[in-house]
Amino acid sequence: MSSSSSFIALAKRCAPSLLARGHAFAPAALSHRAALTTRSRPTQSEALPAMPPAIEDEPLSPPTFLQSVNHFFTRAASLTDIEPGLMDVIRACNSVVQFRFPLRRDDGSVEVLTGYRAQHSTHVLPTKGGIRYAPDVNLQEVKALAALMTYKCALVEVPFGGAKGGVCIDRRNYSTEELERVTRRFTHELHARNLIGSGKDVPAPDYGTGPQEMSWIRDTFSQLNPGHMFTAGCVTGKPVGHGGIRGRQSATGLGVFYAIRTMLDQPNILKQVGLSSPGIQGKTFVIQGFGNVGYWTAKFVEEDGGKIVAIGERDGIVYDREKGISIPALKDHLMGNNGSVENFTNEDSPTVRVIPDTDLICGIECDVFVPAALESVIHGDNADMVKAKIIAEAANGPVTADADEILNERGGIAIIPDLLANSMGVMCSYVEWSKNMTGMRLGRLTKRFEESHGRHLVDVLESNGINLSKQQKNNVIAGADEETHVRSGLEDTMIAACEQVVDIAKEKNCSLRDAAYVKALESIAGHYSRAGNWP
Ligand code: NAD
Repeated sequence: MSSSSSFIALAKRCAPSLLARGHAFAPAALSHRAALTTRSRPTQSEALPAMPPAIEDEPLSPPTFLQSVNHFFTRAASLTDIEPGLMDVIRACNSVVQFRFPLRRDDGSVEVLTGYRAQHSTHVLPTKGGIRYAPDVNLQEVKALAALMTYKCALVEVPFGGAKGGVCIDRRNYSTEELERVTRRFTHELHARNLIGSGKDVPAPDYGTGPQEMSWIRDTFSQLNPGHMFTAGCVTGKPVGHGGIRGRQSATGLGVFYAIRTMLDQPNILKQVGLSSPGIQGKTFVIQGFGNVGYWTAKFVEEDGGKIVAIGERDGIVYDREKGISIPALKDHLMGNNGSVENFTNEDSPTVRVIPDTDLICGIECDVFVPAALESVIHGDNADMVKAKIIAEAANGPVTADADEILNERGGIAIIPDLLANSMGVMCSYVEWSKNMTGMRLGRLTKRFEESHGRHLVDVLESNGINLSKQQKNNVIAGADEETHVRSGLEDTMIAACEQVVDIAKEKNCSLRDAAYVKALESIAGHYSRAGNWP
């Protein structure tokens, strides 16, 4: 049986058992079909429009990104006691819009573009989620990504609902001026539909977008809302000089690094995957995607003594098992070569080479594989190739539902799931948004006070005959600036979240992914139970 058909079989197997347990969250298409076969002629009231089965629930081969997210949801839901109706409420996407808008190209021609925004859950506001510029953005993808945002925020206790949006473009085909027009018009379209604002819905960077786009979004929103006090909080991931926060650009990659480091310190994870020593030092890494998330993850891993043996980009894999890849050298090369790894060499390492077949990345032997590009890269047909002991999902949805089942069945592989691994992007966005709401930079009022406190402490120590080195004195005296606050908050949040997930996984004897979903779902269910279902 192919892996995709085994996923369908699994979905079908799951449905009756879940229904028997009273869970209404078995794939709706399956329960709907079952209902059709057991009924005779419908009565008048039954003939009235019932909820049609959602198209995304039809088991497809291979599963779509949205099906994978819903599959993980369903699997985790069976490990909780949350009431089935409430599960349906949590799972449903509140709203999703698709719109078309024109772009005047630099040559005077007009092109019609397609944009999306999905708001998965408004149980807390604002909703939050990135804007993706990619040629294959679609309705299902933004719904899947928005759902993941809801679960991610709940997991790391960020008080936002989940959202996601995007525009179907390959940004490499557009000039900076054209990208500015796309971004401003997209913002206008969101604004016209009441889908943006610091208390409503707050975009952020995602695949294909960065601080520049966020800056255009903020400016457009400000122009449309003169006198609005909190325009800076309408979007996060802005440049520091335009209402952003120090540390946002590196936040997601830093969080991935913290997640890997924390998991590599857990004795039961090390035992599960057959690693004999803890820590990053000396472990081998493979990273797919060298954009924002991939680059920063690689940088922190390298600085902590990890050996990066392969980095995959869209046109090839840079490979150096002997010496490991130099991250600054590769970054310089990509910046000077329009993002291409072609002809990468490093004078310090004659063993580095470029492999043109990008599909081989999943099969490269390593301790930790970090997919940091796009979804569904590990799927039913290549999951058996994976030779990593740990997969850290820096990208959203890199492992499909059928691949996840195969990897779990194989055993000896731990997957740090996306909703945990890449959650520090939204955590940092939360800090940026809070800064925008208060108008006050973190550390502004406390840094000098902390420094004078530290100086006083050094004086007391020295007057009692305890002499400190220059470095020790600096450490005691340094007051925390904005970036220090941000990093400390991210580290603390990620370590706590990882440890909670590991504990749940142990208690329920389930995967880290199931445990992360369980924690998220219980947190959202708790919110709904307290808030009620008004009106
Ligand atoms: P990015 O656009 O900065 O980088 C993506 C990189 O992947 C690019 O360098 C691109 O060339 C490369 N790439 C594309 N196709 C590839 C392929 N087939 N093989 C190898 N490399 C390929 O995007 P990003 O912001 O780094 O986002 C990457 C992933 O991380 C996405 O799944 C995104 O949803 C997720 N994510 C991003 C953030 C964030 O803060 N930016 C936060 C959470 C999750």
